[in-house]
Amino acid sequence: MRRTLYGPEHEELRATAREFLQRTVVPRMDEFIADRALPRDFWLEAGKQGLLGLHVPDEWGGGGSDDYLFGTVVGEEFAKVSASISSCYGIHAGVVAPYLVELTTDEQKARWLPRFCTGELVTAIAMTEPSGGSDLAALKTTAVRDGDDWILNGSKTFITNGYGADLVVVAARTDPGKRAKGITLFAVETGMEGFTRGRKLDKVGQTESDTAELFFSDVRVPDANRIGDEGMGFIHMMERLVQERVGAAVSNTMHARQILDETIEYVKERKAFGQSVGSFQHNKFKVAELVTKMDVTQAFVDQCILAHAAGELSTADSAKAKWWSAQVQNDVLDECVQLYGGYGYMNEYRVARAWRDARVTKIWAGSNEIMKELIGRDLGL
Ligand SMILES: Cc1cc2nc3c(=O)[nH]c(=O)nc-3n(C[C@H](O)[C@H](O)[C@H](O)COP(=O)(O)OP(=O)(O)OC[C@H]3O[C@@H](n4cnc5c(N)ncnc54)[C@H](O)[C@@H]3O)c2cc1C
Repeated sequence: MRRTLYGPEHEELRATAREFLQRTVVPRMDEFIADRALPRDFWLEAGKQGLLGLHVPDEWGGGGSDDYLFGTVVGEEFAKVSASISSCYGIHAGVVAPYLVELTTDEQKARWLPRFCTGELVTAIAMTEPSGGSDLAALKTTAVRDGDDWILNGSKTFITNGYGADLVVVAARTDPGKRAKGITLFAVETGMEGFTRGRKLDKVGQTESDTAELFFSDVRVPDANRIGDEGMGFIHMMERLVQERVGAAVSNTMHARQILDETIEYVKERKAFGQSVGSFQHNKFKVAELVTKMDVTQAFVDQCILAHAAGELSTADSAKAKWWSAQVQNDVLDECVQLYGGYGYMNEYRVARAWRDARVTKIWAGSNEIMKELIGRDLGL
């Protein structure tokens, strides 16, 4: 189905992203998988191509665009190549960027944004703790005021880009007497004494991304590194989760679509009983169902992209896009593995890795259950 949301200016940027990915990422995928991380030169080259600070004002080194569609068109190209690299890129350029652009002082912008855009300063965001991620308001990491500084203690886990990030936006409790209203955000930077990282976590999928535990032991963070207002951290995060969730939906949908397209080519070529496996009625109907599912999902996600670009996307609609696309992605990729037969279970095949990579999308950025909770609440239930 022809999509109507992108214009020639978006397609031009898509071509830049595609060229970058084909040149910088595709030939080195085995290396990234083995390292369980992206090398610095990946970030520096992405910065050189103008892909990291699309929405950062130009005075701070970014592209200065206020058109959200430039972000999604690049996100789609990353998702086609690797869900994992797409998540690393998305955390930096799509998730953390709004915190550093919208909530920071000019002094902080000058300190962080130019290097954010060049890829010299890679970022992460740390909300989840070993004791829980869904109940964000119950987080236990503390920050206690000490003169012009804050003393941070606690730990975070499952943090994307956590191992390699130079700056991590950390949510910490500054008022133990309050739940949601007692949380504040801080920028914790590499080199701060008492800030350490655990091992790169050994995940089922998304092998190319670095996912880490972070530890804070009496870390002295200057108040100049506080992001946003004291006690407003939870609200700041909630306001930005709409963008994180529509971004996840874009990636989920495009990732599944790409692998489905590759699967269709495969079942046209692969022969059994003297005919292509795609020509058996069962498989033909199966593929017809999968293509329909993807087209219908894409239509809803496209509407969400447009609504978010217009500043109108609701929490409930972003939750629908996020959980639905994650479910469809997982359902479609499971069927794609089946259509590949035994090769679909081999790690050297993209379909196998995509199937493993997709599993987490029903868990992170608010699990499917939490998304349904938000939708139910919106219905007054
Ligand atoms: C690869 C990976 C990367 C990640 N990257 C980041 C990152 O960069 N930054 C970050 O902060 N976090 C990150 N996360 C953490 C992720 O957001 C959490 O794992 C997620 O929010 C769930 O939290 P939890 O794992 O503590 O599960 P829990 O909160 O313990 O939930 C366990 C189960 O109970 C269900 N559940 C919980 N509450 C309810 C309820 N009210 N109703 C119904 N069911 C419920 C959940 O849906 C889940 O199925 C990442 C996770 C993974 C696996």
